[in-house]
Amino acid sequence: MKKIYDVIIVGAGPSGIGVASILKQMNASCLILEKEEIGASFLCWPEEMRFITPSFPAQGFGQTDLNAVVPKTSPAYTLDMEHPTGEAYAKYLNVVAEHFAIPIKKGVQVKGINKKGSVFSLDTSEGLYQSRYVVWAGGQYQYPNLTPFPGADFAIHNSLVSSWQELDGDEFIVIGGYESGMDAAYQLGKLGKKVTVIAKTNTWELDNSDPSIALSVYTYHRVRHLFDSDLLNVVGNTAVTKIEENASGYDVYTNDGEVYFTSERPILATGFKGSTTLIENLITRGKHDEVLVNEEDESVATPGLFLAGPELRHDSHVFCYIYKFRQRYAVIAETIGRHLNLDLSILEMYKQENFYLDDLSMCGEMCQC
Ligand SMILES: Cc1cc2nc3c(=O)[nH]c(=O)nc-3n(C[C@H](O)[C@H](O)[C@H](O)COP(=O)(O)OP(=O)(O)OC[C@H]3O[C@@H](n4cnc5c(N)ncnc54)[C@H](O)[C@@H]3O)c2cc1C
Repeated sequence: MKKIYDVIIVGAGPSGIGVASILKQMNASCLILEKEEIGASFLCWPEEMRFITPSFPAQGFGQTDLNAVVPKTSPAYTLDMEHPTGEAYAKYLNVVAEHFAIPIKKGVQVKGINKKGSVFSLDTSEGLYQSRYVVWAGGQYQYPNLTPFPGADFAIHNSLVSSWQELDGDEFIVIGGYESGMDAAYQLGKLGKKVTVIAKTNTWELDNSDPSIALSVYTYHRVRHLFDSDLLNVVGNTAVTKIEENASGYDVYTNDGEVYFTSERPILATGFKGSTTLIENLITRGKHDEVLVNEEDESVATPGLFLAGPELRHDSHVFCYIYKFRQRYAVIAETIGRHLNLDLSILEMYKQENFYLDDLSMCGEMCQC
């Protein structure tokens, strides 16, 4: 008979590793299914890209490293870096996975999930897996939105650029003015290329300290000198409506009636669809297209299915950075642990170390959008 795990976790990014490390410490029979390798999304980052949230080893004084997924660890200390690269951060995740001896099956892609009675069946590239609980931690990065408007397929999505040095040409149009778009502008500017950024929202002007809303201090600090140079032209409060190809390049149309020409493929930095599109049969969505979950981050449509990571949202609270959504890992593990009658004593440490946020009203303004 096929083994039925207590918990299967889909994805070995920060969320999968973070939740699994707690469940493992509770002695749950858990398994991560990962389609590629640990930290695969970070390994796809353009090589020049770095974390905008700083890492700092202050855990000895009760302050957490913003990018840690487990208390008492610090990517800054492990990697000797304050703003890790994607490759380096994947190394940190590997160290954590090894330390907790988390069982991971790599190269197993989950194609879909069904629930019959109290058992989940996961249809994968390597056959069927079964469990009583599922934690969905498939992330967003590998599920870009490639069709935000007609003709977007003429553009190249920023998540598909492996290094900005590989792009031929001297002048680019970047569509999107949030972190990815401004990072692209910064990286291309550094290479001496001219960039026009077309942005729906002037994220660099917003008076808000939350990087889920306004451009982060780290990125603003890097690009601000470009604003005064002829390398960067910013077209703010403007939406691209379509792209058309012509004999010598591409015409980029905007909602104010302007047309911008570029001879290089425009760069699309307009965001992600997210991996939950694979489990539409088990979820319902709210007015912001968010997955509807209860206070324990369990799908309201399918009990036993939990959501961890950047797609998590509670009303106006958006959890799209590690330092935000990691605080929900222990809440998920506690809920599953209670159902399975596991030893929950490890959670005390998570609470003491600020890795546990069960009162959503505590998010305050810093999480709103
Ligand atoms: C430009 C940019 C900059 C960023 N900078 C920061 C930052 O500075 N600080 C910060 O906190 N966050 C940052 N983020 C966000 C951060 O990268 C994500 O929030 C984080 O990666 C999400 O972690 P995750 O574990 O939920 O998902 P991921 O890291 O995407 O991991 C998901 C894992 O699931 C696997 N997977 C996916 N689908 C399947 C499937 N069907 N079957 C099996 N396995 C699957 C993937 O291979 C992957 O390993 C940034 C993101 C971008 C795009």
